[in-house]
Amino acid sequence: MAARLHRHASELPSLPLRLSASRIRLLGATNRPPSALRLRPKSCRPARVMAAAASATAEEGLKKGIAEFYDQSSGLWEDIWGDHMHHGFYDRGVTASIDDHRAAQIRMIEEALRFAGVSDDPSKKPKKVVDVGCGIGGSSRYLAKKYEAQCQGITLSPVQAQRAHNLAVVEGLADRVTFQVADALEQPFSDGQFSLVWSMESGEHMPDKKKFVGELARVAAPGATIIIVTWCHRDLLPSEDSLLPEELNLLNRICDAYYLPSWCSAADYIEIAQSLSLENIKTADWSENVAPFWPAVIRSALTWQGFTSLLQSGWKAIKGALAMPLMIEGYNKKLIKFAIITCRKP
Ligand code: SAH
Repeated sequence: MAARLHRHASELPSLPLRLSASRIRLLGATNRPPSALRLRPKSCRPARVMAAAASATAEEGLKKGIAEFYDQSSGLWEDIWGDHMHHGFYDRGVTASIDDHRAAQIRMIEEALRFAGVSDDPSKKPKKVVDVGCGIGGSSRYLAKKYEAQCQGITLSPVQAQRAHNLAVVEGLADRVTFQVADALEQPFSDGQFSLVWSMESGEHMPDKKKFVGELARVAAPGATIIIVTWCHRDLLPSEDSLLPEELNLLNRICDAYYLPSWCSAADYIEIAQSLSLENIKTADWSENVAPFWPAVIRSALTWQGFTSLLQSGWKAIKGALAMPLMIEGYNKKLIKFAIITCRKP
């Protein structure tokens, strides 16, 4: 999201480990360890222990940075773009204007529900929803109203959680929509309680994708639908072990600007879901449907209101804004993919 005008990753201890630690965990989960790890002799075990400790420190730094970033930037985003902090879904090939954005963001939610086959039938519709990485609760309130459901949202940002609660009060939803500060990788919920598990553009922030999907699956009730809408890199070709150096370079620059750990592909998510014995696993590439979004965000940043708000938000926001063209470049090069992954808990 453009709102992810992240603190520069090089300010944090996470940067040197960004590509290695989470990728190693992800690939370990999918039985495709990098050859460097496979060949490492046992005598290197202390190095692995140290790497694990450094990785934990890096994850704490990442979480702190994400929380601070959203604490600082959510108000700016809400002023200009409203309470949904995610891409809009557009017909392919259109040019979006700022007037279209809210409808396109709502359409993103509806398209995701339709793709996952979530039922509107009163006897089958979701009754308990968890919104993992809830921002200021746009999806939570929308889903709670649509399905007359209970919804619980979690975010790393205390400012977002408070704002989400205030908006729920204003909309008369406070009795069934609640928010708290919590980590998606260690969710404060008991097993198997939610009939819809929703993650709209938070997966890209997760340093351990296997743990992330594992937590989504753990809190899902039997038969529940899990929906992940997230930024991915392109699937690797069978002949490839990794992205090309120039592709990694572009992603690293985006990570630096937007405060993200390493990326994975939709195929990686599918492998993880399979490894967790999830069912009815589906994915789609919606990159072309979101293509009009970043140009629209850039145009909004260039309005007088956008420009002055951005300046008031400080250097981190400006740096993030300057990196927006990198997202467009990534989509144009078919390196960045906007993916939906859905599945069902058995
Ligand atoms: N889903 C929301 C917000 C997307 S912005 C919307 O569509 O409007 C990304 C969100 O992910 C932020 O709220 C951020 O706090 C949250 N997030 C990132 N990493 C997280 C983590 N480890 N645990 C919980 N939330 C996280």
